[in-house]
Amino acid sequence: MKQEQDLCARGMEAIKGKLGRAQFNMWFANARMDRKDDGHVVVEVQNGFQADWIRSNYLSLVKNVLKEIASSEMEVEISLTKSPRKAESAPDTTFPAGKKFDDRVTWNYTFDNFVVGSSNQFAHATAQAVAAEPGRKYNPLLIYGGVGLGKTHLIHAIANHLGNGKNLLLHSMTSQNFEHEMISHLRAGSLDQFRAKYRAVDVLLIDDVHFWSGKERTQQEFYFVFNTLFESRRQMVFTSDRPPSEIPDLDERLISRFGMGLIADIQPPDIETKVAILQKKAELFHVPLTDELAFYLAGRITSNVRDLEGCLMRLAAHKAFSHEDMSIEYIKANIEAILPGRKEKPSVDEILRTVSHEFSLKISDLKGERRIKSIAYGRQISMFLLRTVLEMSFPEIGSLFGGKDHSTVIHACRKIERMSSTDDRTKQVLYRLKKSIGYA
Ligand code: ADP
Ligand code: MG
Repeated sequence: MKQEQDLCARGMEAIKGKLGRAQFNMWFANARMDRKDDGHVVVEVQNGFQADWIRSNYLSLVKNVLKEIASSEMEVEISLTKSPRKAESAPDTTFPAGKKFDDRVTWNYTFDNFVVGSSNQFAHATAQAVAAEPGRKYNPLLIYGGVGLGKTHLIHAIANHLGNGKNLLLHSMTSQNFEHEMISHLRAGSLDQFRAKYRAVDVLLIDDVHFWSGKERTQQEFYFVFNTLFESRRQMVFTSDRPPSEIPDLDERLISRFGMGLIADIQPPDIETKVAILQKKAELFHVPLTDELAFYLAGRITSNVRDLEGCLMRLAAHKAFSHEDMSIEYIKANIEAILPGRKEKPSVDEILRTVSHEFSLKISDLKGERRIKSIAYGRQISMFLLRTVLEMSFPEIGSLFGGKDHSTVIHACRKIERMSSTDDRTKQVLYRLKKSIGYA
């Protein structure tokens, strides 16, 4: 075991030596190297672009340095990280039972590296308050928002902050890992150990709890963990892609438990925040980026922060290739290669299916006549998407919905348009839906 860790640690050091600090930071700083049981080495990275880039540019370098260290040929695989990472500095659990915690916290997801804007100010402030005095304020804290808006960053920032120095038993994990761990204890007949382990925790951080939708047994076990920790005032922080009340098939008891502390949302960032984030990341990854360029790119990317990051990496890659200065003319000429890829437009069916799934409605309900508020809302959202994403005409949309008059469609589209800037729930719903149909 020790030897394998050595190989990976020395491998990373050697790569750093060969690439130089700036290049290394850009492509490998958040990578993790692991030796698997069958002997092959996996380099886990955090986004698809980074994986592709390393594969096509650095794979032989990685193989060569490992070969030098191990004196034999190594099989190397570049793959995407499946779980968030725990800080090297975070206290390791020494709990005797069950498998060891393998979730890791990303080291550079810190409060310092988080750009605050009006879209995330509240979530950021509450996360900081919790990190400063765990268990005292806002317990539990639940942060929700769409994909790529910084939820994992914030929950890891809490972990990084608390991992530094404070003598607390902290567990940070994804909801899926909690579930897997519970199931393996259930199978092994060792649930007692599982429960005891969580009873001992000082701070519990669980990312993406919306995945527990419909997972009754997991919800049930978690309910006990929650109650124990809550009663003894241990801090809990959760993230979710939507408010608990909107997670389908989530136990009412959990919905109410999640709401006992504070629920904070993160909205998509405005242009100023996007610019500031780009600049922060550019600094972190040593990519030279002028203000003019940052504004240009932020204006072109309507979607999430993760895409902004991908864009920055592609930019860096282009620069490394072409050795041209990153002038605005250059960017404009290469914009297609730099912006995140957008797939073909979704089909009408795909849009309706996605909306029906979001609201747990049948497509026939969406197309039908019933005027119950929840159905009508889903119907109006569908019409709005068909109009804005597929640019269908009002009469076309009307006939798709059982021959409705075009004025009804106009009314629906206007209403959702208005709500998309005034109503937080609608903003989130639209963001999520556009994301699922590949249009955000
Ligand atoms: P989520 O968990 O909400 O899907 P992440 O926390 O994984 O999103 O964020 C996606 C990427 O965007 C991460 O690399 C994160 O560091 C970055 N990011 C998101 N919001 C911010 C912000 N306000 N400041 C700096 N980086 C951010
Ligand atoms: Mg996340």
